[in-house]
This record gives sequence, structure tokens and C-alpha cells, in this order.
Amino acid sequence: MCGDQQSNFSYKAVAANVRFACGASAHLPEFIREAGGDKAFVIATGAAFVRHASVIEPVSDSSLTQFDEVQAHCPLPVVDASIDAYEESGADTIVAIGGGSTLGLGKILKAEHGAKFIAVPTTYTGSEMTPIYGRKIEGQKRTKVDAAALPDMVVYDPELTLGLPAHQTASTGMNSLAHAVEALYPEHPNPIAWNLAGEAIGLHARALPLCVADGRNIDARIDALRAGFLGGVLVSMVGVALHHALGHVLGGLFDLDHGDYNSAVLPHVVAFNATAVPRVEEVISDRFEVADPGEAIFDFAKKIHAPTSLKELGMPETGIAEVTQAIVAKNPRNPRPITHPSMKRLLSAAYEGLRPSVEYYRDV
Ligand code: NAD
Repeated sequence: MCGDQQSNFSYKAVAANVRFACGASAHLPEFIREAGGDKAFVIATGAAFVRHASVIEPVSDSSLTQFDEVQAHCPLPVVDASIDAYEESGADTIVAIGGGSTLGLGKILKAEHGAKFIAVPTTYTGSEMTPIYGRKIEGQKRTKVDAAALPDMVVYDPELTLGLPAHQTASTGMNSLAHAVEALYPEHPNPIAWNLAGEAIGLHARALPLCVADGRNIDARIDALRAGFLGGVLVSMVGVALHHALGHVLGGLFDLDHGDYNSAVLPHVVAFNATAVPRVEEVISDRFEVADPGEAIFDFAKKIHAPTSLKELGMPETGIAEVTQAIVAKNPRNPRPITHPSMKRLLSAAYEGLRPSVEYYRDV
């Protein structure tokens, strides 16, 4: 017998080509050539075309090679319009500059239409580092997992995030924090993921309150963007569990904002799972000021003015029963078994915005 179970681990990673530097986006023309591309097709929101004009103009100065009809969750008509515009443009390289909604269109064009793809993320969701992509069809988000969707290059320029409003800073930061938290309990032991998760959680714990207090704090922006990158790496490496499965159910049924959902539910999933995974309590109480991990994440969400109840996000009270039913039927991977009473308790508490302790979920 060689070693023991404590030393066994699994490691799976996706190929990536990342440039992370202040001012990196000024080098997009070189990066397009480096990726083997010739003519760029830029995807961004209308506001981002204005905000990042100095970065976009050197790679595209014609409306024929620009697409600005981005919408949350990539609805099918928007996806179809972006495909038509790309095919008519004669371009060969997508440059998507923005949050997960913008990058999602780039992923579809890369995976399904053979484009080269350079992602320039300006939020903390980390989507650019994962092979997961999707589109919304008749109210339902349909996702696929395909390494072909990964960008040829990811360009992180923290200066592009200086204008990210406090609300989006907090909500996309909580989304990224959730990626790191769920990497604390992968399906198979993975010390690399545990270490990276600890780093990402620590970076967000320090940086997000500073970014929310002063969006122009470039050092804090650098740390938060680095943590966003790590969160995406972790999703690729070890996947996600109950928290993200609940997000899909809630997002599909009630069209809740993806980031806001994260801050309202994460404290509860943390408190619920901490009883099964001591590492959750160890890492979180070490990185935050509060000993109980559920209370620590709840207090943190409050500190950065992120939502802490599903009620305030507009979920109807009848949603508690509906989502309980759906998540029990879905039975996603999770370190603690998912039962009807436990999910009902979790969703009721998240609906009301209760401050959850580990004790509250111990015996349910
Ligand atoms: P988003 O892309 O919708 O952006 C949120 C808002 O912030 C938008 O109004 C946008 O215009 C604005 N914004 C973005 N960057 C800005 C900046 N620098 N300055 C000012 N405003 C800025 O939101 P998101 O949370 O980044 O992405 C959500 C989408 O990403 C969802 O569809 C979600 O499912 C997906 N997602 C996918 C993965 C994955 O692994 N595939 C992971 C996380 C999220």
C-alpha cells in the first residue's frame, strides 16, 4: 500500500492563454495577429463601445464589424442576430469586451461558427475561463460544456474595470466568491483547487469592500479581477455544486439577476454545507472577521451592499415550494444530501434574508 487516502488527488485543467496587466487591452491589435486572426468583429454593449472607445477603435472602426445588442443570458434572437452580423462582416476574430453576457456571445461564435476569440472581461464572473456557455430559449437557459468555446486568449486589463458600478462590482464579485467556495468541496480531493480557492476567497474578502467604497482603487481592482480569474479557473477545474444548481432553477423560474441571486443564497449554502466539510469553516473563518462561515458570508454581503434576501429580489413566496420541489428532483452534486426538509428550510431562510449560522442547518 503506497501512501494513504489523504495524499490522493485528481487534477483536470483546460488550456488557457492569459494576459493580465494594466493597459493590456491597448495591445489588442498584436493579440489578434498572435491568435492567427486578421479582421476583428467586436461585441460589447452600447455603453461599453463608448466607455472603451480608445481600446475598440484600433481594432474596429466600422459598424459592420461591431455588435452592440448584448442582453443578459444570451436570448436566442440576440444570438441569431450576432451570428448573422458576424457572418456578413467578413471578420475572422471575435473580440468580446464586457461581462458574462457579452462573453457568452463570443463563446457561441467560437464553439459553433469557427471564429477565433479574444475575451476581454470587465466583471468578476470568470466565464471567460470556463467551457460552459448557453443561450436562453423560451425562458429556459440551455447550457453546453465544450472546450471549443474557450477563448484563444483572455486579456485582463484591470483599468477597464474602474468604471464598474458598485452594484455590479458586488454582485459579480459574489458570483465569483461562490465559484471559489464551491471549489472547497470538489467531487474528488484536489489540493490545488483548495489552495486556489483559499487565495480567491482571501482576495475577494479584502478587495471587494475597497472596490465598492472607491471604484477607482486600482490596487483593489487588480486583486478582485485576479480573484475573478481564479474563480473561473476553479469552475473549469472542479465544477460547481448545489449553490449553482439552485441558481439555474431560480434564474429559469423567476429571471433573477445572476449575481444578485448569488449573494442572497450563498450564505445559506455555506452554512448548510459547512457541517459536512470542515474545510469550509476553516477557510472562511480565516479569511473573514466572523467565526461562523454562514454568518461571515452574510455579513460580508451586507458590507458590500449586496442583496441578502430572495424576497427583495422579487421572488414570490410560492417560489419556496416550487424551487424546493425542483432542486430535490434535480438532486445536484453536493457534499451533504439534498432533502425536501433541508431545501425548504434553506430557501425559506434565504427568502426572508435570515442571518444563517451553521447550527441552524445542523440537524435538518
Ligand atoms: P453582465 O455581463 O450582464 O454585466 C452586468 C452589467 O454590468 C451590465 O449592465 C454591463 O453593461 C455592466 N458592465 C460590465 N462591465 C462594466 C464596466 N467595466 N463598467 C461599467 N459597466 C459594466 O453580467 P455578468 O454578471 O458579468 O455576467 C452574467 C452572465 O454570465 C450570465 O448569463 C451568467 O449565466 C453568465 N456566467 C457564465 C459563467 C460560465 O462559466 N459560463 C460564469 C458566470 C456567469
